[in-house]
Amino acid sequence: MLKLDSPLKAGEVALVGAGPGDPSLLTFAAHKLLSDCDAIVYDALVSDDILALAAPDAVCICAGKRGGRPSTNQQDICQILIELAEENKRVVRLKGGDPFVFGRGGEEMRALAEANIPFRIIPGITSGIAAPALAGIPVTDRTTNATLAFLTGHEASGDSRMDWSALVKAFPVLVFYMGAKNLSKIACRLINAGLSDDTPVAVIHAAGTVDESCDIGTLKSAESKQLIAKSPAIVVIGDVVNRRIDWRHQS
Ligand code: SAH
Repeated sequence: MLKLDSPLKAGEVALVGAGPGDPSLLTFAAHKLLSDCDAIVYDALVSDDILALAAPDAVCICAGKRGGRPSTNQQDICQILIELAEENKRVVRLKGGDPFVFGRGGEEMRALAEANIPFRIIPGITSGIAAPALAGIPVTDRTTNATLAFLTGHEASGDSRMDWSALVKAFPVLVFYMGAKNLSKIACRLINAGLSDDTPVAVIHAAGTVDESCDIGTLKSAESKQLIAKSPAIVVIGDVVNRRIDWRHQS
């Protein structure tokens, strides 16, 4: 079986998870492939500190919104990867967190497979796990929950495909990705679905970067927009928030 950290072959693409932002949270394989490749196609959420580890001669192509530029559409990104591979480049497709968690890595993998491009997947630490950990919130705790759900906050606006009452009954802890913009709507939906309005909420912004912050409130303060979230943020809802120890700011 292929060793994940073996050097990329000419014409091969690696879909690599970059973790939440701190270069020390990259995997060994991610670091190795990043520093020995010909081209890097990266998303907006990949930090500059991580890009600084790129091979000095590698062409770096931004495929996400940065500095107001529009983001490249998914089909174009797949096409760029295929073209670079067909030029016999060793390509790293660098994505924030884990490539397969709300990251469209699956679509890119299928496009590569369809085009007969050899590829490998390097998992990364997803922000839904890393952000709470850095903030000192255990996403599972024997005293509070035996299950948890990872969700996208986009589902709170407009026509939701989610059954919010079933969600609230089944999962004592909810971890929302992409929940910043819709935080108030998410809180409103959860309260309407039967969750108590004093359920604790943590908003962890830019985990693993110099801008990292963690704000704590309740569903009530989130609904009334006293607790606000700035993107990128992970929103954790449930009693595990009360188990928090702010270990990062210990003296
Ligand atoms: N594949 C990524 C998720 C991409 S979706 C992963 O596995 O982490 C984008 C969302 O991820 C953002 O809206 C935010 O909710 C979350 N996110 C990514 N990086 C983050 C970070 N450093 N801190 C907090 N949230 C982050």
